[in-house]
Amino acid sequence: MIEKTAVPDKNQIKSRFPSKKVLIRPKAIIECYTEIPCNPCETSCPFDAITIGEDINKIPTIDFDKCTGCGICVYSCPGLAIMNVMIKNGKAYFKIAYELLPLPKVDEKWLAINRHGDEIATCKIEQVMPPKKTNNKTALITVSVEQPYLYDFVTIRRAHE
Ligand code: SF4
Ligand code: SF4
Repeated sequence: MIEKTAVPDKNQIKSRFPSKKVLIRPKAIIECYTEIPCNPCETSCPFDAITIGEDINKIPTIDFDKCTGCGICVYSCPGLAIMNVMIKNGKAYFKIAYELLPLPKVDEKWLAINRHGDEIATCKIEQVMPPKKTNNKTALITVSVEQPYLYDFVTIRRAHE
């Protein structure tokens, strides 16, 4: 339970995902579990897919039918609580905000990290969008991992030299 450990359990994580059928197209997965006064995700989405409403403390909800997977909310969230996810050919593709240096390079193998900070697998760097004004000065990294890690992967770490 996130209330006790600060890490969401598998049921909480799965509750943020649509069905795997829906994930044949990229969708935003919003892992914002506690009420805080924050709403850039809602105001940045050009497709009105995210709703918080008048009470800025409410937890965001997403309409997956409206989400195009454009990725704008991924770099707009100050809490790095959003990623884009898609499934294709047995692999899960994640677009994540990444704020550390050095940035990875396309085709490199990095470590896939879970919500406990543990290494779970190797992932492949598919795309790197460096920080620039148009993406809120936040790098966006797309990585692929084997699909069984769909609900485990959360970020990357450079592989041991
Ligand atoms: S990925 Fe794009 S369309 Fe989907 S919720 Fe985020 S900003 Fe909206
Ligand atoms: S912008 Fe991020 S941290 Fe803020 S409410 Fe939206 S998902 Fe949560």
